[in-house]
Amino acid sequence: MKITHVFFDLDNTLFDFTAASNEALKSFAEVLNVPYDNSFLDVYHEHNHTAWHLFERGVIDSMTLRRSRFENTAEHYGIKLDGLMMNRKYLRLLVENKRFMSGAEEILDYLHPNYSLSAITNGLKEVQRPRLMAAEIDHLFDSIVVSDEIGLAKPDSRYFQFAWEKVDCPPKDQVIVIGDNPHSDILGGREFGFNTCLFDPIQKHDQIESDYQISSLHELKDIL
Ligand SMILES: [Mg+2]
Repeated sequence: MKITHVFFDLDNTLFDFTAASNEALKSFAEVLNVPYDNSFLDVYHEHNHTAWHLFERGVIDSMTLRRSRFENTAEHYGIKLDGLMMNRKYLRLLVENKRFMSGAEEILDYLHPNYSLSAITNGLKEVQRPRLMAAEIDHLFDSIVVSDEIGLAKPDSRYFQFAWEKVDCPPKDQVIVIGDNPHSDILGGREFGFNTCLFDPIQKHDQIESDYQISSLHELKDIL
């Protein structure tokens, strides 16, 4: 098997989304004037998770997703606020607080001369390309596919079809998808016919059907 194309997920694969998001949520706690603690984060994450779930099932649109997670969290504390305004601030902080996962820059430099790299991400357009540019790694990718821009999301096979066509349809067994989500990245990639590599830094998943499983991005050097 000769891999020629590497499709990277972004959030919690190349970028430490969790750390950046929690940092950005501090300003939300300040706006609400509530303590920034685990209980606050739990409330936000529950509303955020619900909103994404409804969005992915087509129950709400992406504007409602952006707005409702902040408005519903605020409402939990008996506060009314403009969810879209808070969302804009949060997304701007996400871009400003960009953080790489350990080893991300090094592995991109290692792979870039020998492989075609693509970024495949289920994320909001206000964040994904601006953050790649702010992190100064956008030029390393031949293709960047943002779900919010095309109206399709992983694991939908039409998303993978779109990403595949963007790099001129190489043989599917020459493509590998690297991501942290067993469902959207690994199952989606696998069902489309690509090779897959689950990145599982805290080793929380077992028995995932993936061609490779790594806990550190450095381990990609053993595969590629
Ligand atoms: Mg991810």
